[in-house]
Amino acid sequence: MSIEVHIAGRGRVREGDETVDTDQGAHCSLCGKDTDVVVSLTPDGTGSFGCRDCLRARLEATTVAAYLLQESKGLPWGKISG
Ligand SMILES: [Zn+2]
Repeated sequence: MSIEVHIAGRGRVREGDETVDTDQGAHCSLCGKDTDVVVSLTPDGTGSFGCRDCLRARLEATTVAAYLLQESKGLPWGKISG
Protein backbone atom coordinates (compact mmCIF):
# COMPACT_ATOMS: atom_id res chain seq x y z
CA MET A 1 0.00 0.00 0.00
CA SER A 2 1.31 3.39 -1.01
CA ILE A 3 0.49 6.50 1.00
CA GLU A 4 0.81 9.95 -0.49
CA VAL A 5 0.39 13.19 1.44
CA HIS A 6 -0.25 16.56 -0.20
CA ILE A 7 0.56 19.74 1.70
CA ALA A 8 -0.87 22.87 0.14
CA GLY A 9 1.71 25.33 -1.11
CA ARG A 10 4.63 23.08 -0.13
CA GLY A 11 4.53 19.81 -2.03
CA ARG A 12 3.90 16.12 -1.54
CA VAL A 13 5.46 13.09 0.12
CA ARG A 14 5.03 9.57 -1.17
CA GLU A 15 6.56 6.69 0.75
CA GLY A 16 9.07 9.02 2.35
CA ASP A 17 10.06 10.64 -0.96
CA GLU A 18 9.42 14.36 -0.91
CA THR A 19 8.60 16.53 -3.89
CA VAL A 20 8.75 20.28 -3.31
CA ASP A 21 5.98 21.99 -5.28
CA THR A 22 4.70 25.39 -4.24
CA ASP A 23 1.76 24.94 -6.64
CA GLN A 24 0.63 21.82 -4.77
CA GLY A 25 -2.99 21.89 -3.67
CA ALA A 26 -4.68 19.81 -0.97
CA HIS A 27 -8.19 19.02 -2.12
CA CYS A 28 -10.32 16.62 -0.08
CA SER A 29 -12.37 14.20 -2.17
CA LEU A 30 -14.71 13.54 0.77
CA CYS A 31 -15.86 17.03 1.81
CA GLY A 32 -14.80 18.80 -1.37
CA LYS A 33 -12.81 21.46 0.46
CA ASP A 34 -9.35 22.78 -0.32
CA THR A 35 -7.48 22.36 2.94
CA ASP A 36 -3.91 22.44 4.29
CA VAL A 37 -3.15 18.73 4.10
CA VAL A 38 -4.74 15.61 2.60
CA VAL A 39 -3.71 11.96 2.43
CA SER A 40 -4.41 9.36 -0.23
CA LEU A 41 -7.36 7.03 0.29
CA THR A 42 -6.61 4.41 -2.34
CA PRO A 43 -4.11 1.52 -2.11
CA ASP A 44 -1.95 2.87 -4.93
CA GLY A 45 -1.76 6.37 -3.46
CA THR A 46 -3.52 8.10 -6.33
CA GLY A 47 -7.05 9.29 -7.04
CA SER A 48 -8.99 10.14 -3.90
CA PHE A 49 -7.57 12.11 -1.00
CA GLY A 50 -9.04 12.88 2.42
CA CYS A 51 -8.46 15.72 4.89
CA ARG A 52 -7.80 15.36 8.61
CA ASP A 53 -11.34 16.37 9.62
CA CYS A 54 -12.91 13.76 7.33
CA LEU A 55 -10.51 11.02 8.46
CA ARG A 56 -11.05 11.94 12.12
CA ALA A 57 -14.83 11.77 11.64
CA ARG A 58 -14.53 8.33 10.08
CA LEU A 59 -12.24 7.10 12.83
CA GLU A 60 -14.77 8.30 15.41
CA ALA A 61 -17.53 6.54 13.48
CA THR A 62 -15.68 3.23 13.84
CA THR A 63 -15.43 3.77 17.59
CA VAL A 64 -19.13 4.59 17.85
CA ALA A 65 -20.10 1.62 15.66
CA ALA A 66 -17.96 -0.76 17.70
CA TYR A 67 -19.62 0.57 20.85
CA LEU A 68 -23.13 0.27 19.45
CA LEU A 69 -22.54 -3.26 18.21
CA GLN A 70 -20.56 -4.59 21.14
CA GLU A 71 -21.65 -8.05 22.27
CA SER A 72 -22.47 -7.14 25.85
CA LYS A 73 -24.97 -4.50 24.76
CA GLY A 74 -28.29 -5.98 23.73
CA LEU A 75 -28.85 -9.20 21.91
CA PRO A 76 -26.87 -10.31 18.88
CA TRP A 77 -28.65 -10.26 15.56
CA GLY A 78 -30.91 -13.26 15.01
CA LYS A 79 -31.27 -14.26 18.63
CA ILE A 80 -34.72 -14.40 20.17
CA SER A 81 -35.14 -13.32 23.78
CA GLY A 82 -36.75 -15.60 26.39
ZN1 LIG B 1 -12.50 16.49 3.99
